[in-house]
Amino acid sequence: MASELLEKVIKLVNEDNEWRSSQSLNLIASENVMSKTALKAYLSDFMFRYAEGKPFKRYYQGTKYLDELEVLTAKIIGEMLGTSMVELRPISGTIANAAVFRVLAAPGEKAAIAPVQAGAHVSHTKFGTLGALGIIQVPLPYDEENMNVDVDKAVKVIEEEKPKFVVLGGSVYLFPHPVKEMADAIHSVGGKLVYDAAHVLGLIVGGRWRNPLQYGADAMTASTHKTFPGPQGGLIAFTDKDLYKEVGKTVFPWFVSNHHLHRIPATAVTALEMKVYGESYADAIVTNARALAEYLASEGFNVVGEKLGYTRSHQVLLDVRTLGGGAKCAYLLEEAGIIVNKNLLPWDPPEAVKDPSGLRLGVQEVTRLGMGKSEMAEIARFMKRVLIDGEEPAKVFEEVKEFRRQFRSVRYSFDEIGAYKNVNTLLDLLE
Ligand SMILES: *Cc1c(COP(=O)(O)O)cnc(C)c1O
Repeated sequence: MASELLEKVIKLVNEDNEWRSSQSLNLIASENVMSKTALKAYLSDFMFRYAEGKPFKRYYQGTKYLDELEVLTAKIIGEMLGTSMVELRPISGTIANAAVFRVLAAPGEKAAIAPVQAGAHVSHTKFGTLGALGIIQVPLPYDEENMNVDVDKAVKVIEEEKPKFVVLGGSVYLFPHPVKEMADAIHSVGGKLVYDAAHVLGLIVGGRWRNPLQYGADAMTASTHKTFPGPQGGLIAFTDKDLYKEVGKTVFPWFVSNHHLHRIPATAVTALEMKVYGESYADAIVTNARALAEYLASEGFNVVGEKLGYTRSHQVLLDVRTLGGGAKCAYLLEEAGIIVNKNLLPWDPPEAVKDPSGLRLGVQEVTRLGMGKSEMAEIARFMKRVLIDGEEPAKVFEEVKEFRRQFRSVRYSFDEIGAYKNVNTLLDLLE
């Protein structure tokens, strides 16, 4: 019985690996792949260990190599972001937000949040982490024409409501939020600016997205696995020293006990890859996103943000209302091996969440596999055949598989110089 179940478990794992990592095109905007070098560093003994507390001041024995690694990783990332204050222990972007939000506001106090239409993440809202912490959500006004925060109206809201902090950055955003303007406004009422760079950390370290820490943000939270192509995890970088200290005292024990230690060396390897290849990678991402948007428009899709140049991030948004809606289109594409997610568009009512008008596409993963403009044109054609021409998805999938087979290695990484050969994994030791 157990052996049958084991067979089933192993089969599911093998099939998913094959499907998601070698047959299909992943356009989920929040995902990426690690290099072999980072992956091997991830498969280490650290995944079994505990290290509560701060480096060199742990509550556990056995952490001397981790202590050194954690300090080193924070230093590498800090140098890329222009700060010496980096906290690596949040195990996800949401936990990073929770730790910062909780320190900045007590239950019943207010936080002003980028408009949901401009891409705020659920953790910024009363439905997510902010709500769980009992902090009151004050939405900043939305400027439909610029698909962004309405700066003048937002300054008034901040002056009137005097929130403890403002959150910018988001999950569905094509254009940068106005950090400097909001930082000035919130600082003038004694509050702090938190920038959530979960999606754009890779673009920031690659120099293709403004570093919010240089424009007045007091803290920047992030995930380490979206445009920054590392293991799933979170981090916080600070310019405000008191906030850094306070959050450092509360990540543990409030929000993590153990911080999933094997993330740390894999994050370090990825950070070093971004130090070397990050600029060309980020450059290729934004070029590809713009190209994909243009090709999709010329294939007949309704691409959001035409007047604004479609996108400045890794994302492209499609309005697929006339093609059957987001749910149906996302399903058909999945059948054709093109993985995307359905998404609310700024004009959708919140209750449309199960069948919204939009699709969100991200090019960071296909870019990391080495795809460029001509591949963006090919992806746009595949999508047209499924969604506009109504071709059988299974038939298109056969061609998608063929196409995908040409892109099997992770680029912009130390794999290119064979560094993975030097990393011993735990498996080598066990065998
Ligand atoms: C993805 C995302 C998060 C959550 O990150 P996790 O690492 O999945 O917890 C937080 N904020 C924004 C803006 C995101 O897009």
